[in-house]
Amino acid sequence: MCKSVAIIGAGMVGLTAAAYLSRARLKVDVYEQHTLPGGYISSFVREGFTFPAGLTSITSNGIVFPILKELGLAEKRKFLHVGHQMSWGGYDVPLRSAPQVRDDLSKRFPNQSQALQRYFRWVEVDGDGFRQLVESGLMFGQDILPKVLSLLFRHPRFPWAALIARGQTNRSLHQRHFSDPALRVMLDELAYPVMPAQNTLGMWISYFDDTWAPAGGMQAFANTLVRFIREHGGEVHLGTPVGRIRVENGRATGITLGDGTEISSTWVVSAADLRHTCLELIGSEHLTAFLVAKLEAARPSEPVFAVFLGLRASPELEVAFKRFHEPHVIFTCADGRTIQVVWLNKDDASIVPAGKHSLFVGWLDDYANWEALKADQAAYRARKAAIADELITRAEEFLPGLREHIEVQESASPLTYERYTSNYQGATTGWNWNPTHAPRFKLPKDLPLKNFYAVGHYTFNPGGVPTAMITAWYIGREIRELIETKKENYLT
Ligand SMILES: Cc1cc2nc3c(=O)[nH]c(=O)nc-3n(C[C@H](O)[C@H](O)[C@H](O)COP(=O)(O)OP(=O)(O)OC[C@H]3O[C@@H](n4cnc5c(N)ncnc54)[C@H](O)[C@@H]3O)c2cc1C
Repeated sequence: MCKSVAIIGAGMVGLTAAAYLSRARLKVDVYEQHTLPGGYISSFVREGFTFPAGLTSITSNGIVFPILKELGLAEKRKFLHVGHQMSWGGYDVPLRSAPQVRDDLSKRFPNQSQALQRYFRWVEVDGDGFRQLVESGLMFGQDILPKVLSLLFRHPRFPWAALIARGQTNRSLHQRHFSDPALRVMLDELAYPVMPAQNTLGMWISYFDDTWAPAGGMQAFANTLVRFIREHGGEVHLGTPVGRIRVENGRATGITLGDGTEISSTWVVSAADLRHTCLELIGSEHLTAFLVAKLEAARPSEPVFAVFLGLRASPELEVAFKRFHEPHVIFTCADGRTIQVVWLNKDDASIVPAGKHSLFVGWLDDYANWEALKADQAAYRARKAAIADELITRAEEFLPGLREHIEVQESASPLTYERYTSNYQGATTGWNWNPTHAPRFKLPKDLPLKNFYAVGHYTFNPGGVPTAMITAWYIGREIRELIETKKENYLT
């Protein structure tokens, strides 16, 4: 009998796991609640403008592109490089290399130039090592010792650089290096302000040369994966929420759809939010009290509020847009608050009507600002409109005259992100990146349910696309190995 897999969630991770397993000739069915595949890598269209429903660019980190290559999909979708820039007041600093950012910031903060020398020396040394490590395929778990030895040989100062990050967060690292409070805050806000300092380094390396957007928009990328799955005999069922994971004698035996339809399968893989998967789909009666407590206490990553703008072009706007040295801008407003402004179509004319432009403007938000409004639609709509308006006003500090060019406007609150993807509290990248809040799940030890796997951005800390993708790769390999050894479960 053909072994079957039911995969819950057609986000990037569910689709990647499905691609590997359908290629291995399993009977694969992916069930997605939304009418579009992709989760956070989907798009929505308004009056000819294609906007990203989740993230605006992807980092490969030695994981995403190797996976696409292994699946034979590397050539199927062109990726465009998305450079980053930090801006404040009338200043713009593109983020292209450690020496360039150091020199540009030293001009603006001459009293910090010694500190900038030391900091970017660290970014350079550790960054080179970090880049070599991720590009060596270390995350795929093979030949770890020779890879580490080769790293130490090529980068003998790497252990010193790694030591500097040890036990530090983004914020504490910047506090240690810089006395200028404005510079500190700007550097903190380039990513999650409180995250382990190793991730600060990963951030710089990604910004310098490893952030990408699929040509045609995120949805085009998700659709490429769906086509691959279907060409290999699998199916992606859209608009089909899963209501329960069926459990019998400590074993997952299939799923029950939202409409009550029961489907049996050899394995169940959940690529949906881990809290939702455990507490709602599996049910706490099948979980240990320890796991339930851990899930209930776990803090998700910060959500985002975003405004999506379709703009008519004009000579004035072309002048204002000259401030974009790179399409992704992290802008510090006059009052110190940080917003992201992304010129979505800078290098991709296919996602806007001819001669028009599109922007993403967003900031990290607090779910608590929105939760109470769930029951009050009028208050929710009023707050959503007010915050969208505030973001546009702030974006005008960077792009004067922006408001007069708006033809299409849409916005997404943390509740919108939560509603479309079931990510708990609209979490952007799985669990919180703050090391004091990030839970450590040991799967499958914490969830010993036979024939069941959890994947996605909650199953590897920190979350985000690359580490989420690697979980799909591991589960794909694990199930293929079980088939080769004629076992049904890693626990048997
Ligand atoms: C605004 C924003 C910016 C971001 N920026 C970055 C960035 O710069 N770099 C980075 O690496 N990451 C970033 N991320 C995070 C990144 O997008 C995610 O970590 C990643 O896409 C997660 O993929 P996933 O497949 O694990 O989860 P998801 O994309 O959330 O997919 C889960 C899927 O499961 C479906 N689902 C849930 N429950 C059910 C159910 N019961 N039945 C059926 N289907 C169900 C959902 O509808 C969804 O499609 C960002 C996210 C956001 C929102």
